[in-house]
Amino acid sequence: TFKRIGTHIMKDSNFLKEHNGRLMWHPMTSPKDSADAPPTIITGADGVSITDIDGHRVVDGVGGLWNVNLGYSCQPVKDAIAQQLDILPYYSTFRGTTNDVSIELSYELSKFFAPDGLSRAFFTSGGSDSVETSLRLARQYHKLRGEAGRTKFLSLKKGYHGTHIGGASVNGNANFRTAYEPLLPGCFHIPAPYTYRNPFNETDPEALAQLCLQALEDEIAFQGAGTIAAMIMEPILGAGGVIPPHPSFAPAVQDICNRHGILLITDEVITAYGRTGAWSGARLWGIQPDMMATAKAITNGYFPFGAVMMGQRMLDVFEDNPNAKIGHGYTYSGHPVGAAAALACLAETQRLNVPQNAAARGTQLYEGCRALMEKYDIIGDVRGGYGLMTAMEMVSDRATKKPIDAATAQTVQEVAYQNGAMVRVSGPNLILSPPLILSETDATTILTALDAGFAAA
Ligand code: PMP
Repeated sequence: TFKRIGTHIMKDSNFLKEHNGRLMWHPMTSPKDSADAPPTIITGADGVSITDIDGHRVVDGVGGLWNVNLGYSCQPVKDAIAQQLDILPYYSTFRGTTNDVSIELSYELSKFFAPDGLSRAFFTSGGSDSVETSLRLARQYHKLRGEAGRTKFLSLKKGYHGTHIGGASVNGNANFRTAYEPLLPGCFHIPAPYTYRNPFNETDPEALAQLCLQALEDEIAFQGAGTIAAMIMEPILGAGGVIPPHPSFAPAVQDICNRHGILLITDEVITAYGRTGAWSGARLWGIQPDMMATAKAITNGYFPFGAVMMGQRMLDVFEDNPNAKIGHGYTYSGHPVGAAAALACLAETQRLNVPQNAAARGTQLYEGCRALMEKYDIIGDVRGGYGLMTAMEMVSDRATKKPIDAATAQTVQEVAYQNGAMVRVSGPNLILSPPLILSETDATTILTALDAGFAAA
């Protein structure tokens, strides 16, 4: 089983298995764990399915990492990448030069995000970069306006905002923080509207939203509004376990931020481009953020790329201002191959009207998961209901909500895989985020595989 890729001949599968997990340090796991329990080696993909080194082919219930919205066989995106590599494989957008494709992309994005009140793009190389860009520009915004004291950031507990120092500082999950402290000073976390577990023991989503909003108001009063630069928030919390807030929540956060002169950044690295069944998380909740951090599906996972979109407040302060020099940017900001991929993705995303299918298949998966919850006590909570973002929180005891042990959660995942679907276990949560082009049959395959997984646990 030798494969030729360009001039490189890939080693056979025994070689790859022998070295699996040892020479590469993997994100989000320990080198020892990946050496002891080597990761599944994925060697191919087509449609919404992935194939491993042993030829086992399964539906990808994870959609890469919430990013392969259009599946693995999206020919227009592949063609765009291949053609752009021939025409212009790289040129920078730093001061003095730019490239034609990134101009065209900024034009298309400004049309796409017009309903969100966003009209300018700052390009990045991925989600963590997009978060970092928005945090840095939020501070600069206030300095340019003469409010240099506004440096702090607010965010939600359970939120995930990538792993750069700024993003890790606003993250609301200790797993991504403690080992890397001290983080950025001046970051404060508000309770998330997480109905299943919250410090208020409130089970009604609307009442809980109100309590979290009050906590936000209290924190602003405690810190002093004049010290806070921005609030960053996922419209639906993703990696923290798919936590959709009550619909009253996001608009009220926007009101509070507006009242206190605090910028609102929506972290839409997962939610932009259709995943929630709306074109963006902002549109889902009817809000208009000052900045929106996007990445992932912007290139369908085929090229590392991201964009931060800017609202009117940012334009008012940064444009026509000779002092507003942006001392920030990446070698790959506006990368022509990424921009070409993004242009093709945006066109396909709109042509296929992916939010519509995301909503329909999302309902099917969500209801299927709720039916599994009737059957298996190990499922303590099912969350989702907005497009193709669903999580099942696993417990070892429903009454006490004691989280599941890692080995049992792993069994569910492994048996589901043997039965035809890749699903993702993250802590106690089993997360589903398949491609948005999923068919009804594919969704059924995922549910049947999960059924087998839970039966074995
Ligand atoms: N923000 C959110 C909401 C995310 O889900 C992620 C990635 N899962 C990031 C930021 C970081 O993106 P990346 O991994 O591309 O740096």
